[in-house]
Amino acid sequence: MTYDPNNIFAKILRGEIPCKSLYEDDFVLAFHDIQPQAPIHALVIPKGPYQNQDAFAVQATEAEIVGFTRALGKVAAMVGLVEGGYRSISNCGANGGQEVPHYHVHLLGGGSLGRMVSKKD
Ligand code: AMP
Repeated sequence: MTYDPNNIFAKILRGEIPCKSLYEDDFVLAFHDIQPQAPIHALVIPKGPYQNQDAFAVQATEAEIVGFTRALGKVAAMVGLVEGGYRSISNCGANGGQEVPHYHVHLLGGGSLGRMVSKKD
């Protein structure tokens, strides 16, 4: 799978469509999820063209990886997730249910989130 530069998060990074921005630095952009799944639901995305966590882990520079990881902590603190606890999720590929093919981490919280993965019947 190659990176699709027309995915929606690439368009947000280029300023072609708006987002409710939370934080930006040299390595990342963070913004509110458009369809929040918890009282607080932020997305953190790298600025580089990585389609998922695998690509990021293999291809990103050490500076990008450090910058991204530090930003996860900054954003979690910024939106008030640290004290009560929270969940970070990165859906990867078909089985992971990934919809947008640009690496992103969901930061979710603001209340109890229940089980990590819903039980299958
Ligand atoms: P995933 O299933 O992990 O790929 O998650 C993609 C997430 O992107 C979903 O939670 C969507 O609600 C969110 N999303 C899609 N389009 C936008 C947008 N324009 N602004 C903010 N969040 C978005």
